[in-house]
Amino acid sequence: MNFSSDNVSGASPQVLRAIVDSNAGAAAPYGMDPWTEDATRRLSEVFEREVSAFLVATGTGCNALALAALAPPGTAILCHEEAHVIEDECGAPEFFTGGGKLVGVPGAGGKVTPEALSSALARYPRGIVRQVQPSALSLSQVTEAGTLYTVAEIRALSDAAHAAGLAVHMDGARFANAVAALGASPAEITWRAGVDVLSFGATKNGAIACEAVVFFDPAKAGDFLFRRKRGGHTVSKGRFLGAQMAGFLDGGHWLDLARGANLRAARLSAGLSALPGVRLPWPTEANEVFPIVPAAMHEALRAAGARYYPWTTRSLGENAAPGEGERMLRLICAFDTDEAAVDAFLAVAARAASVHPAAPF
Ligand SMILES: *Cc1c(COP(=O)(O)O)cnc(C)c1O
Repeated sequence: MNFSSDNVSGASPQVLRAIVDSNAGAAAPYGMDPWTEDATRRLSEVFEREVSAFLVATGTGCNALALAALAPPGTAILCHEEAHVIEDECGAPEFFTGGGKLVGVPGAGGKVTPEALSSALARYPRGIVRQVQPSALSLSQVTEAGTLYTVAEIRALSDAAHAAGLAVHMDGARFANAVAALGASPAEITWRAGVDVLSFGATKNGAIACEAVVFFDPAKAGDFLFRRKRGGHTVSKGRFLGAQMAGFLDGGHWLDLARGANLRAARLSAGLSALPGVRLPWPTEANEVFPIVPAAMHEALRAAGARYYPWTTRSLGENAAPGEGERMLRLICAFDTDEAAVDAFLAVAARAASVHPAAPF
């Protein structure tokens, strides 16, 4: 019953096999090997256009390098106030951009709205020498609240960003889960909706350590090869990154893995929300569930060996906030989370719900 994160899982056997298959013999280093070429070609197929893709080993490196390509030194990158880039990357985007400023925008359910974007932009007017000049908007898809931007929402935000002279970055650490859930094509939720650069995640959804910085306009990639090397993300035996990404994409494997994770999360979410005293402040739209539960249920789950993070957030409205005697949890289903783990978790939760009936509201 481990719902801590999708990186507590190992790698998918298909990805591991692809790595083993790439192992024999000599291959050109630094990403000049045939596996990397194959991975890049597959990414162009996935996005239905010629993309420039660069493989890196971590999500933080992926985001920080992508943002550095979009945001000149000392400019501002707008993102949700609880985005991974601003909260969980130890200042890497600021470091790689050469003193960029991350500006957090508030919004319910982990989402930036056009209204919040425009009031943030108003705080950083063009041409005022005391103020950092905005250069990029970063959106997380899936968001840190487990919610999704619709195609129309991405379009509206991209249009507003572009009109203000900002480039649009998407943090797709869980991009596969978003594509699987939205039923929209990868192209529709990215470049066709105005996204300029995507951090395409593979690690959490079944690779060992591989993500891709994807430029939808290859002309905008500029000197990225040098930037990646300077940033320490040009892997010497690059074939192993190429093999991971190619194995991940082969035969739609990446979406099969994500669909499994999303289905388990939906099952978990439905089971929990049927229990007295449990509420879900945000809809379960991908592979993350954020229930607010009676404290006694949290204790029973912990005692039964369930693993997950208790959660705090600024993305809830006043009335939705956990009250006294309640706890908010973050539960993540990975590609290999099985139904038995979900059902065991629900059984413990149900027992706790009947032993400690919630006070009527
Ligand atoms: C996990 C995650 C990343 C990548 O993090 P690394 O630990 O550096 O691989 C980026 N963005 C989001 C939203 C994430 O959840």
